[in-house]
Amino acid sequence: MSGKPVEPSSLPTFGGPAEQTAGDAKEFLASIVEQSEDAIIGCTPDGTIVSWNRGARKLFGYRSQEIIGKNLVVLATDEATPTLKTAIERMKRGKAIFPFDGNGVTKDGRHIEISCSASPVKDARGRLMGVAAILRDISERKRADEARALLAAVVESSEEGILAVSLDKKVLSWNRGAEAIYGYSAEEIIGKSVASTIIPPERMEEYDRSFGRVLAGEALVRFESQRYRNDGRLVEVALTFCPIKNQQGQVVGVSAVVRDITQANATRQALREANENYGALIQTMPDVIWMIDSNDQIRFLSPNTEKLFGYSIAECYARGISLLFDSIHPDETQQVRRSFKLFFEEGAPFDMEFRVRRKDGEWRWVHNRAIQTFEKDGLRYASGLLTDITQRKAAEESLRESEQRYRLLFERNLAGVFRCSQVGSFLDCNDAGAKILGYDSREDLIGRSVMDVFFDPNDKAAADQRMAQHGTASNQELSLRRKDGSPVWIMANTTMVPGATGTEIEGTFLDITLLKQAEEQMRLAKEAAESSNRAKSEFLANMSHEIRTPMNGVIGMVDLALDTDLSPEQRDYLTTVKSSAGALLGIINDILDFSKIEARKLELERVTFSVEEVVRATVKEFSVQAKSKQLSVKCDFAADLPDIAIGDPGRLRQILMNLVGNALKFTDQGEIMVRVIRLPDEALQFSVSDTGIGISAEKQKSIFEAFVQADTSSTRHYGGTGLGLAIVSQLVALMQGRIWLESKPGKGSTFYFTARFGLAAAATTEEQTQDRREPTAAKPSRKLHILVADDNLVNLRLAGSLLAKQGHSAVTVSSGREALAALEQQSFDLALMDVQMPDMDGFETTKAIRAQERTSHKHLPIVAMTAHAMIGDRERCLAAGMDSYVTKPVDAAKLFTAIADALPKDSALNPSQSENTPLRAFTTDH
Ligand code: ADP
Repeated sequence: MSGKPVEPSSLPTFGGPAEQTAGDAKEFLASIVEQSEDAIIGCTPDGTIVSWNRGARKLFGYRSQEIIGKNLVVLATDEATPTLKTAIERMKRGKAIFPFDGNGVTKDGRHIEISCSASPVKDARGRLMGVAAILRDISERKRADEARALLAAVVESSEEGILAVSLDKKVLSWNRGAEAIYGYSAEEIIGKSVASTIIPPERMEEYDRSFGRVLAGEALVRFESQRYRNDGRLVEVALTFCPIKNQQGQVVGVSAVVRDITQANATRQALREANENYGALIQTMPDVIWMIDSNDQIRFLSPNTEKLFGYSIAECYARGISLLFDSIHPDETQQVRRSFKLFFEEGAPFDMEFRVRRKDGEWRWVHNRAIQTFEKDGLRYASGLLTDITQRKAAEESLRESEQRYRLLFERNLAGVFRCSQVGSFLDCNDAGAKILGYDSREDLIGRSVMDVFFDPNDKAAADQRMAQHGTASNQELSLRRKDGSPVWIMANTTMVPGATGTEIEGTFLDITLLKQAEEQMRLAKEAAESSNRAKSEFLANMSHEIRTPMNGVIGMVDLALDTDLSPEQRDYLTTVKSSAGALLGIINDILDFSKIEARKLELERVTFSVEEVVRATVKEFSVQAKSKQLSVKCDFAADLPDIAIGDPGRLRQILMNLVGNALKFTDQGEIMVRVIRLPDEALQFSVSDTGIGISAEKQKSIFEAFVQADTSSTRHYGGTGLGLAIVSQLVALMQGRIWLESKPGKGSTFYFTARFGLAAAATTEEQTQDRREPTAAKPSRKLHILVADDNLVNLRLAGSLLAKQGHSAVTVSSGREALAALEQQSFDLALMDVQMPDMDGFETTKAIRAQERTSHKHLPIVAMTAHAMIGDRERCLAAGMDSYVTKPVDAAKLFTAIADALPKDSALNPSQSENTPLRAFTTDH
């Protein structure tokens, strides 16, 4: 900008205007015009230039003599010419030309921007003399204007917030960046106090302090703070405060450049955290990270190097790359060096496992692998990872060893070992397995279908099912098919295991064909033995029948003979015969019992009885025998014994008879004591003690076995079959008890046994108690007419005599037919019927009688007589329609009990007989 319009009032005064002459003034004026920086050109109204000052010269380059006389038009560019011409037309009409901008052209052809104005110059009479045109170069100003506009645009469009604040902290200017950061539009905020808009209260003090420093002329470059947005959120900002000065250099405000660094801060925070994590990772990573350069210098080593090599990090850096190569195992050094060289120089992959020696001399396996190489500043770098794999190597080694061991076990096993897929083909097997199945070698079997070795697909299905249920199957015996089609018995143990083909089946098997054959032979032998044993039992049972029948006759007849008049001598003989026959019957009964037990055909009864009574009665039976040996037999009962038990009193009596009998037999002086106590578990414990010869420890072991006697010399002296204790121990077992003994040779023996009985309810005990008193004591009150049928004449006579002795009348017949005939001729109160008769046996005869009775509506009581003392006889008799049952040899007591049982209940025959007495067979009374 050149010069300023000179106002007349501001002209300097030279001693006051009064003293000035008009000439002076004119000259003064001309000099001002000449000196003016503006171009002042005088021209005629049509534009011809008449005067040309210094400013015009400077502006257009023409000197006065060059331009005077020329039209103004030469100073205008072609474009500006029409405008100028219009202006000249106005000038001609004496009008002023108000300033306007146009383009001029200089002497040397430069285009310049100029501002023009022109005013008419009139003479005293008001005639237009000419025009004074004032031209000013405005290129500079234009440029400045443009620059300002540009600056404003830059400010306006800046992403950064740019704002100005007045001294009283009110917003003066606000650009778009500020709008974006703070959310306020320029209109909203200009003129408002920053304190009430964007400065948070907690930042106010800081703001005031900064503001004060800027007012003092300081610029605050990039400090961070927080500001409020108009939506109330806080923004993190970076601020630059500068003072705004006026031309006089006074601070009139503060400018602020604001940048939103919320995101940047977040990013920085994330970066910092990532860095920390990265650091921690490097610290804690088990692997060593290394970086080296082509000068063999270590550039980086992660801290855990210390742990791996035993050298401190400082030592590692000091030793450089040789740390690595020098510590490699001699066997591997060459190869590692070679590979590393290739990697470093040619970028070949480097990934190796080798051993290194720690500082303390220990060898470690490491896995070293390069990650990358790169060049920087003329040096080549490489980085990688080093991992301690000692443990893995050890595990691998032990796995390899165990696999080898397993393989050896597999291959050298004498048993067949195999693995097959679940679909069913052999994946693997050993030679032994192939051989068992008749294949040449394992190769011959591997790959074949499992079905090839099964005869029956169902066998395989069954085996699969067992496996599916339990995942394993042990000791399965299978008959498999050998290659040649012959069978082989194997015993297999199989398990399901996860394998390459899915779930696989693995197992071992043994050839048990020989075993199976032996087993089969044994089975056959056992069957043969069993059947011969059965035959033996049956033989014994038959024998007892055959022996019992004549014995029946012997005893019966002796009884009858003893009833007659005899000389004392005869009576003595017969008495001896009777006791011998009784002893013989006892032996036969023992043998029979034993064979029944062996054939498992002995069953215990379940009736109510008094234990105490059974014991007392048994002891009593020995009283005569005891007295003759001058021994006493006592019994002792615990107070808490049950009054009534449910069980088999007959068998209990049999046990006691045996034990007390033995005690008497083997005792010459002292006493025999029978004790019964109740055990905590409700079982009863019986003991029979004697003061006899005792039993050696040796013999005690076998004493309960059949046919065993303590020693042969004593046997000869005392007699016996050696069966007694064997039967006793079997009976005790049937009573869920056990038997044992304590004995000292010379001092005596105590036999103990326990037995379990059911306990009867107290209210019914009285009534149900088995009456063990002699049935013969109850004499029938009525004389009966009885039919006796038996093919054995001795028996027939015996029965007849027994009945006659009781006052009954008897008709005897020797066959079933005869019996039926007799029944047609007369009526009987009862029939005694042998079961085994030649033409028509007792069962058939009974059936026939019962058939006839269906029309007569009568009922003849029938008592069966049988020598069969086996289980099932009683049931058969009752099923055939018989009412009662007695075993042979028939004795008086048993016979009359059976007769009483068979008679109708309202019969007054035997009122003492309990109504509830169960049907009993007295087979083993001694
Ligand atoms: P036996 O019928 O021969 O007596 P047992 O089985 O009853 O057979 O007895 C076997 C053997 O046990 C007897 O021969 C005898 O040697 C011995 N024995 C049994 N009880 C006694 C006892 N109380 N005192 C001594 N020895 C006994």
